[in-house]
Amino acid sequence: MTTEKNAELREQLIAAVLKKRKALARAQEIVVTLMEPHIEESAFLAMLCEIGPENYNDIVDERHINKLCGYPLCSATVIKVPTKQYQICAAKNKVYDITERKKFCSGHCFKASEFIKSQIPTSPLWLRDKEPTPHLKLFSQPDNVNDK
Ligand SMILES: [Zn+2]
Repeated sequence: MTTEKNAELREQLIAAVLKKRKALARAQEIVVTLMEPHIEESAFLAMLCEIGPENYNDIVDERHINKLCGYPLCSATVIKVPTKQYQICAAKNKVYDITERKKFCSGHCFKASEFIKSQIPTSPLWLRDKEPTPHLKLFSQPDNVNDK
């Protein structure tokens, strides 16, 4: 292999590494942004195209630690968090693990969050520019009062 060719390959490799680092840094930036209350819908949907599901889990956890509802479009504070991990539904004779549900102010926000999380692309962040931009949809079911 010629030295020229080697130099070219090296350059390509460096470019790929820089691109990967940039994409990961951007995802981290989004995690920090979405930890805040008062997130705007369209900005939220655009940001989700630049993160992965594990970044989204971090966002929910960080919001929960900051006593905010885990769903980034909700600015409600969640102060009274139940300490138990399981809930028993007598009607259905079932035991539910509520570890995840506890991070949200309501059943609606929990469902909306799970709904949006399921649409977040799982492909590597630094290869997203080669994919068509996904069209994420928000959960639009009206609030169910019995589910609060
Ligand atoms: Zn909420």
